[in-house]
This record gives sequence, structure tokens and C-alpha cells, in this order.
Amino acid sequence: MDLTKLIRENILELQPYSCARDEFQGEASIFLDANESPFETGLNRYPDPLQKALKTKIGALKQIATENIFLGNGSDEAIDLIYRVFCEPKTDNVVAIEPTYGMYKVCADINNVEYRKSSLNADFDINADDVLQKTDAHTKVIWLCSPNNPTGNSLNADDIKKILENFGGIVVVDEAYIDFSSQPSWAKKLADYQNLIVLQTLSKAWGSAAIRLGMAFASETIIQTLNKVKYPYNINILTQRQALLQLEKRDEIMQQIDCILQQREMLSRELRLLKIVKKVHPSDANFLLVEVENANATYGYLTKRGIIVRNRNNVALCGNCLRITVGLPHENEQLLAQLKRFEEE
Ligand SMILES: *Cc1c(COP(=O)(O)O)cnc(C)c1O
Repeated sequence: MDLTKLIRENILELQPYSCARDEFQGEASIFLDANESPFETGLNRYPDPLQKALKTKIGALKQIATENIFLGNGSDEAIDLIYRVFCEPKTDNVVAIEPTYGMYKVCADINNVEYRKSSLNADFDINADDVLQKTDAHTKVIWLCSPNNPTGNSLNADDIKKILENFGGIVVVDEAYIDFSSQPSWAKKLADYQNLIVLQTLSKAWGSAAIRLGMAFASETIIQTLNKVKYPYNINILTQRQALLQLEKRDEIMQQIDCILQQREMLSRELRLLKIVKKVHPSDANFLLVEVENANATYGYLTKRGIIVRNRNNVALCGNCLRITVGLPHENEQLLAQLKRFEEE
């Protein structure tokens, strides 16, 4: 597969901005090259534009070479960059499953790229043939999200494989919730698929939504092109430092994931016992998609009592569904208690 054929011509030819930290790397005692303040504040120097220390740490943790890692200001930066690198506005298109994470569509609209939808079935299973049928010569990217938001389920691995092997463009698998899933990560398959981009994030299981750090894993050509287009200092030094500290806490995070998985099963079990609950969809993530008798009324009742869930009533295939994030044990207990009260009223 010739990846350069997929990259927009202006991006292929782009001479990227060369910053001071690109032109000199290494140890020195006096830095007079970047017009920074010489007065030490702990923050007076520009950060590493390619975040080498952080990538080394992430690479060791995930068993991925640093050359195959891109870091973004949240996964959202990677999503936007994928459009800007591969999709010619008003000409190219992308295909995504429906329903799924809203940012794929928003970034398509911002970049003036046609967004085609392939509906999941009533059990939220993907139809690989339908996804492939929706593509044409101008389809550059297929967006897959597994475990999927807001449905919570993992997409069937054979279907993802079929799409990877039968589509001549980029296939993105967004694994924001992979740490809660029993399925293996597609990042293990990077060597097999030149056209695969796997997205992960520190925003969910790693407890760091506020620092904005997203990861894209892909072939070297794709990573180098994303690096060419990104802002030179896209990951600030506070984020780089905090991420390095947080990634040291692997054992603690694993315990938190265990707790969330136990709570997810407890919540799922207890919710099913409520008469107002029609269905609790199976989840491989840290949230449950719950179909109730009346989502708007249930949402309103909970909100008045200070409990905020996500009302997905207006999302395709999610009529009367609430998306409920698994919280701390006492938070989940309060949610259940209020839902019981609502049912009895
Ligand atoms: C939460 C979420 C993300 C994370 O986005 P960040 O910008 O990294 O915080 C990415 N994809 C999906 C599907 C999500 O639900």
C-alpha cells in the first residue's frame, strides 16, 4: 500500500515550520536560540516539540516503538489532523459507524469533508459489508470506535479485520475505552496494517482528562506526516510532566479499573431490577447505555436531584437511552436510590 497516495498533495509537499528546538537538540549550558526569557521559572523554556521522554515512557508501557507514536492535545487534535492530512475539502469523504463519537462528524464539517454513515444494527453490531459499500474512490478514512461511544460495546474483530483488509484508505480504530475492555488492542497489529491508526487517551482510565493528552499509534509515514502538520509545541510542558508522573501509577490505575469494572457489573445488575429500565446494553467501557421508559423524564428527575447523566434520547438507535458513567461506589448507590424513588412516585 502506497500511503503517500492517500496524503493530500499540499501536505506531502509541505515544508514544516522548523523551530529552535528542532534545529538544535542536545545538552548545552547556554541557550540563546529561542528568544525565551533567561530567568528561571521552571516554565521559561519551550517544551520538547516531539515529547521524546514521554513517548519513551508510553512506548515501554504499550510495547510500541516511539516512531509509531503521535501525541496530541487530546485525541481530538489527532482526529482533526487526520482530516487535514488525508481529506481534500469538498472532494474527499469519510465513512463512520452510526451512532458513534460526535467529534468525527464535527471535524468533518469543520474541514468541509462529506461524512457518510453506516448504521449499526439493533444490537449495535457493525456491518462490515455495508461500511465497505459506502466507500468510493474519494473515501479516505473509515472511523471505527471500539468500545464504541455511546453504545458501550466492542466492535466484532473479524469485521474490523475485513475492513482493514478490503479498504484502500485509512482505518481509524478509536480505543478511548480500551482499558475497560476484555478485547485486545489493535495497536498490536500495527505491523500488519500500514493503513491502521489506533487512538487512545489519558482522559478516561488514566484519570487525566484535564491535561489533554491523546495518543495515535500508526506506521512511521503516518506519524511523520501528523508531526509535520501539528503546531510545533502542541503538548505543553505541564502536560508532559504530569503525564510522566501519572504513567508511573500503573498499579493504582489498574486497581481503579478493577473497581470500575466491579461497579459496572453491580450497576448493570441493579438497574435491570428496576421497572422503569427496559434494557441495559452490554458494556466494555466505563459507562452503561440504559434504555428507560421515558429518558427525558428520568433525566429531568435526576438532574433536579443533582445527578447528571447523559441523555442520548435524540441519538440514532438510542431512543429513550441514558448514558451513565460508572462513578464511585457511593455515587452509584445514590443514582440507584434516586431511580428507585422516581419509579415509586
Ligand atoms: C472520551 C473520548 C475520547 C477522548 O478524547 P480526548 O480528546 O483524548 O479527551 C476519544 N474518543 C472517544 C470515542 C471518546 O469517548
